[in-house]
Amino acid sequence: MRFYMPTELLDDENCVEKHSDRFLALGKNALIVTGKNSARNNGSFDDVTAALDKQGIAWTEFAEIEENPSVETVMKGKDAAIQNNADFIIGIGGGSPLDAAKAIALMAAHPEAGAESLYGGDLDSNALPMAAVPTTCGTGSEATGVAVLTRHELKTKGSIPYRIFPKVAFIDGKYLVDAPMSLIISTAVDALSHIVESYFMLKADEYSRMAAMHGLKVWARSKPILLGERYLNAQDRRNLMCASTLAGMAIAQTGTSIPHALSYPLTYELGIPHGRAVGYFLGAFLEEAPDEEKWELLTTGGFRNISEFKVFLKRLVGDIEVTEEVLNRGYEMVKDDPKRMECSIFPVSHEDLRKIVYGQDAQKFA
Ligand code: ZN
Repeated sequence: MRFYMPTELLDDENCVEKHSDRFLALGKNALIVTGKNSARNNGSFDDVTAALDKQGIAWTEFAEIEENPSVETVMKGKDAAIQNNADFIIGIGGGSPLDAAKAIALMAAHPEAGAESLYGGDLDSNALPMAAVPTTCGTGSEATGVAVLTRHELKTKGSIPYRIFPKVAFIDGKYLVDAPMSLIISTAVDALSHIVESYFMLKADEYSRMAAMHGLKVWARSKPILLGERYLNAQDRRNLMCASTLAGMAIAQTGTSIPHALSYPLTYELGIPHGRAVGYFLGAFLEEAPDEEKWELLTTGGFRNISEFKVFLKRLVGDIEVTEEVLNRGYEMVKDDPKRMECSIFPVSHEDLRKIVYGQDAQKFA
């Protein structure tokens, strides 16, 4: 086995303020990579800039990360880092800004490299040091080396072939205070998918499963609030953030599986948020898994059987208007890709894959 997760995790209320000295170890001049508004609205941007000011660290802002960030946006961020002489990067936000920040950290360390190198795999993985401040509870990006970007030329999303771990992650549930419930649900479903998918990977071992299983235990405490049975409190927000990071630690070891691969066309073509798009396939995927492991996961998550799991998930994911064309694209992309078809501890045949892809709306796509 090998468990590699070289990020210092600080999970604490007001941890950016309390541990502002951590930024000093990263550099003297930061580029802050965020989305357009949310980091300003949830207080994370103010916390980070106050911490930098306190430590006498110069900073500039690159607040242009869109949802499902593109290669083009990363290249603009690279230019911003170089023009401002940034010597480290701080990503603030959900998966989009954190993943973009990693790619910008990589490209800024290779000024001569063009956009084609992002997926070309021809660079060494030297990158500017990076800090992550997650403000949603699903991506786990703060604990992984993975960066997923949108590739318009291929009309889908995909991970770049480099591993760029943040040096330090500041995890604080308070950034979820004003998050809309729809965002919390979608990102929490993403975290659940990371747990389930990681668990069944061939690369999974006792150590990655430790992160996945404990993540699931922590995650399951929030089931009532995800179903709208009561409001979130501060402990719920801490739980959701912690579960997401533990799930990230698991996929950092194993990668993700078929539901993630199938989700990308749904997000690209139909604009369905990542967590809901993955959740659409997750129940049928778990149904195909071997009984012993499936049972272990279901009981840890507090589900009596697979049907209860699927009903629960359906309530969270809601109705998704998929088209047969988009499902077909997902099926065609995955069916002959050994990286996806042969990554699980159980064999997945084309017939099994059809059930996972079309099973949700079996009558409609019969
Ligand atoms: Zn995901």
